[in-house]
Amino acid sequence: MTTYEIIIGLEVHVQLITKSKMFSACSVPPPNAAPNTYVDPVTLALPGTLPVPNETALAWAVRAAYALGCTVSAQTKFDRKSYFYPDLPKGYQISQYDQPIGHDGELLFSYRDVSQKVHIERLHVEEDTGKLFHPASGDYSLVDFNRAGVPLLEMVTEPDLRSPESAKAFLQELQLIMRYLGISDADMEKGQLRCDANISLRPATAATPEQVERLYPKTEIKNLNSFRSVERALQFEVGRQEQLWEKGTPPTKQSTRGWNEASGQTVAQREKEAVQDYRYFPEPDIPLISFSAVWLKQQRAEVPELPAARRRRFTEAMSFSETDAASLVHDKALANYAEQVVSELREWVQAERPKEQRVTWATHKADLVKLVASWLVHVHAGIRAKQQRSIEDSKITPENFAELLAYLYDKDITKTVAQTVLAEMEVTGNDPSNIIDTKKLWSRASDIDLETVVANVVADHPDVVQDYKKGKTTAAQFLVGQVMKATKGTADAKQALEMIVHKLG
Ligand code: MN
Repeated sequence: MTTYEIIIGLEVHVQLITKSKMFSACSVPPPNAAPNTYVDPVTLALPGTLPVPNETALAWAVRAAYALGCTVSAQTKFDRKSYFYPDLPKGYQISQYDQPIGHDGELLFSYRDVSQKVHIERLHVEEDTGKLFHPASGDYSLVDFNRAGVPLLEMVTEPDLRSPESAKAFLQELQLIMRYLGISDADMEKGQLRCDANISLRPATAATPEQVERLYPKTEIKNLNSFRSVERALQFEVGRQEQLWEKGTPPTKQSTRGWNEASGQTVAQREKEAVQDYRYFPEPDIPLISFSAVWLKQQRAEVPELPAARRRRFTEAMSFSETDAASLVHDKALANYAEQVVSELREWVQAERPKEQRVTWATHKADLVKLVASWLVHVHAGIRAKQQRSIEDSKITPENFAELLAYLYDKDITKTVAQTVLAEMEVTGNDPSNIIDTKKLWSRASDIDLETVVANVVADHPDVVQDYKKGKTTAAQFLVGQVMKATKGTADAKQALEMIVHKLG
């Protein structure tokens, strides 16, 4: 079989979470709003209404364009894209055609540790359409105009992606950038990020360089509403098109296919409209828009540190491992929280000890940040999941979080105790030292005579001791468990195990 190169380009729509819609003062509906309750005369295209562009939406689009390295022109304009569909009350969508907000950008992301660059052909703003419902019983359809007029950002990539898996990784990075910009939640399942994927194949080896670079007619896949379905649909399409090539009948014209989640297949849809079918022409109701240099500069300054830069800083300057940096940066609020915990720990290292015991941050930071990542990403995330609480709503301040980790790092408490105390902190919001004092959980302050506890546990469990002597080594773990129970988790489990093994010979 010939090998084929996979050529993928994406068209992504992102809903902006502005207060009002793209061209009117009508509020953007909250999730699950009752149908047709967030509409106004502009949304419904009543006669005599005129569109007024939302400045916030324009500002956010400009920031997104800068974040994606696009060229932003000082002038932009809106155009009408005409087509008939019942969810489009005007019979045209106000979009942008030849003067988009941004063009010629790029997004760097990595998939399986390989860094890749995808060119962004264009980025523009437009309005969303309403939604149609087709009840299973009945020969009618329903329309909800709540979503009509909600601001959308559309981004079109060059066909730079070479695998379904990297297409998914690209989208995930794009989602994260939208979240860092604070302009969209970009949740695919909720329709806040929508993606159409264009895919074609070409023989990996060809006689001439022109043939190697040649692009064949693409297939557009629609109705992709999760990262997983993007990947699966593209994987399916690779297989389908490979078979067509093998049979000597590769696609000869562009087509559109829909993804069927249940069957795991793409199915043929209508032939796609050509661009001339949309009869694009300048929107006469909105004048040309000029951005002043000062305003553009302000928008550029509003672009925050983006995920890629933050990952780099977390690894290079803060000594997090690549994996920990990726886990933390994946959630902006979590990354902010981690930074605060680290800065509190740094102060603790530098100040909270007698002079002669003072240590340097440089010596300890790698171990300490590892502790921070592991306790935030694994332990605390589990506790929060039980409480159904996001990091923003956590009852634990970064200062208290750092204090607990400091005790653990100094071996003032055991890991078992730290877990218990952290869970209680999340429930009550108490200081760790209070909880540890009240419950007498300090390792150093406990008057536990571990020898005696071990001796008692061994004496109390003759059967288990017999099992151990017969070669059942897990019996020792049971005895360690009993020691931990007797000491409320303050004993050093490793030391207890050594004592038990020693005692049982
Ligand atoms: Mn569009």
